[in-house]
Amino acid sequence: MGQSEHISSPATESHLGACHPSHQVLFEPVQIGPVVAPNRFYQVPHASGMTETNPRVRAAFRETKAEGGWGVVSTGAVSIHPSSDDSPLPFARLWNDADIASHALSTEAIHRHGSLAAVELWHGGAAVMNRTSRLPPLSPSGISWAATHVGFMGQLRPKKMTGADIDEVLHWQRLATRRALDAGFDILYVYAGMGYLGYEFLLPEYNHRDDGYGGSLENRVRFVREMLEVTRDEAGSRAAVALRISLEELRGKVSDHYESEAHGVVDLLSDVPDLWDVKMDSSPTDCGASRFRPEGAHEPIIDFVKRMTDRPVVGVGRFTSPDTMVSQIRRGVLDLIGGARASIADPFLPTKIREGNSDAIRECIGCNICIASWHDGVPVRCTQNATAGEEWRRGWHPEKFAKTASPESVLIVGGGPAGLEAALVAAKQGFEVTIAEQTDEWGGRVQAETQLPGLATWRRVRDYRVWALSQMGNVSMYTNSELDADAALSLGTDHIAIATGARWSKRLYSALEIPSEPLDLPQLFTPEDVFTGAVSGDRVLVFDYDNYYLGGVIAEHLATLGKQTHYATPAGHASAWTFMTNELPFVYQALSRSGVNLHTTTNLMRFDGTHAQLQNLFNAEPIELNVDAIVIVGHREPRDALYQSLISSAEGAAHPSISLVGDALAPGAIVHAVYSGHSFARGLVETETIYLRDEPVVPAKPLRVFPQ
Ligand code: ADP
Ligand code: SF4
Repeated sequence: MGQSEHISSPATESHLGACHPSHQVLFEPVQIGPVVAPNRFYQVPHASGMTETNPRVRAAFRETKAEGGWGVVSTGAVSIHPSSDDSPLPFARLWNDADIASHALSTEAIHRHGSLAAVELWHGGAAVMNRTSRLPPLSPSGISWAATHVGFMGQLRPKKMTGADIDEVLHWQRLATRRALDAGFDILYVYAGMGYLGYEFLLPEYNHRDDGYGGSLENRVRFVREMLEVTRDEAGSRAAVALRISLEELRGKVSDHYESEAHGVVDLLSDVPDLWDVKMDSSPTDCGASRFRPEGAHEPIIDFVKRMTDRPVVGVGRFTSPDTMVSQIRRGVLDLIGGARASIADPFLPTKIREGNSDAIRECIGCNICIASWHDGVPVRCTQNATAGEEWRRGWHPEKFAKTASPESVLIVGGGPAGLEAALVAAKQGFEVTIAEQTDEWGGRVQAETQLPGLATWRRVRDYRVWALSQMGNVSMYTNSELDADAALSLGTDHIAIATGARWSKRLYSALEIPSEPLDLPQLFTPEDVFTGAVSGDRVLVFDYDNYYLGGVIAEHLATLGKQTHYATPAGHASAWTFMTNELPFVYQALSRSGVNLHTTTNLMRFDGTHAQLQNLFNAEPIELNVDAIVIVGHREPRDALYQSLISSAEGAAHPSISLVGDALAPGAIVHAVYSGHSFARGLVETETIYLRDEPVVPAKPLRVFPQ
């Protein structure tokens, strides 16, 4: 293992060139109330899975975006009071003075790079279950938020707020504002979106009040107005006040005086906030996955806002193309380009545009693994950016790499996401890299899967890495090169990484989740057969116990080819895990559009080539299907024969080092393969492979949370 010294990648140090003239508008400063954003790149509030329990992880994650050129960097939701308690999902707090110091770590880190720090002060209203604080959730009229997935369901219904409750929430917003100012934030939010408290006051379905806060649009807007006013009153000229608002439902509501109720709300509050942050109403529509929503999908809902206010407007749309961003500015849709996922996938996106190096942007693929990690309750993970969330814990920087002191060589076998990432990171660290791929295309599973419906954007995983490798002078790339152990060893490299992936198996499981031996029948197929077009038969059953996207996508694909298609799964939903990535509602729409017949909570019992027998998991009721082919999407087994053969050929010799990475090590989603490839390559020069454990910033003595 070589020693290390620090170098920077071309993106940060070589000053590749000047900003393209048409992109310069993106680098104009924007006045937001009393503060000035240094450019138009605005990292809008987004969940990170980071709270006061890992404040250094959080500060480093946000700092990297400021360093990468985002002019404003925001927190995720920061609860103003224990009655807004989203546990077990991770959420941040400004409940008492003890929380200030950990937020200050973030604001100091953001300010070090000349960016503004924004805080999304938040009250969840009826959409939280207060599982830790055990306080009743608050709502305008006692109407609960209806979760349709078990992961978000709760049994505690909200109380109807009295006038005194409203005064208290306003007071909590004031206290949180005071603490946010002490923590050093420059932009303070009032949140009226996504089903949370302010939003519930705006919508007549949630707000049945007959006092000054309900009824007419003017009355329904009153609570949000007062939240803005109390924030302004406390902040004075020390910070700007932003309103984050969801406009999708309101835009569909007719109004007596306005084009829609959304127009009415914006008109009534037009000059109250210093900044409008406009968005959609639910996570699946606001953070739409690329399978179902294109870049810029918010525009038809939010395009009118700028015409009704002279305050700057920020909005999102999974923007990664500078031309699209410029178009949003030039056409008067937005003043600031909001980025959440774009900033996770590439924190240095603004710098790359400024340096005329847009080709180097590591574009978000819209897979929503980042959102799934929040649903999982862990810090953000990203398919495209393996360093996201690891900036402090592992000391990984997305653009800077420790360089090997000894000029060693590395052979990577396999050109899927793990192999490509390993090759790129090894090359950036100064190794002489050879990468060999047996097929005539780079990308491995990505190459195969992205031929299927809706997955084309995911090709960016391959395209970015192949492009970046082609820019390096120390990389040799070979396709059509299947290596065996002798061939791999004959190259004489110092290190060999085996990234040969995994193959789908024909194994099934019993109703008690006990694995059985793989079936071996002529008309039984796996996803690989789908990729090569080998699935014969006109009536097909896709039996899916992988439960992520692929089974559903394959069913959609086969139906589109004109086959009568059934989809069955032991899970309660088709592609059940896509709930985690916001895709589930749209998966159902796609399957229904393509005429796929669904059978959930069923197990596959038998198949004789013309009939499949399914059985209901709970009542054992049999279901006979007249099908002549089955595709099993279930278990994957590492393709590690080459590794085993190398290990026995090398017979314990220290040289070369031989490693398994990606799916060949442990089959997973693409995010796991990229991380594994990255981690392997960093390990070539890092002496420490463990990660640091973060600790809360603890006050001298515990502070009372409430009553305040
Ligand atoms: P991962 O997700 O871990 O990157 P993939 O299955 O996507 O795994 O990619 C593995 C790649 O390795 C595939 O493109 C496959 O063609 C290639 N491969 C497998 N065995 C060999 C081999 N012996 N020599 C060269 N390439 C190989
Ligand atoms: Fe984009 Fe996927 Fe990364 Fe999220 S996880 S930022 S959607 S590439």
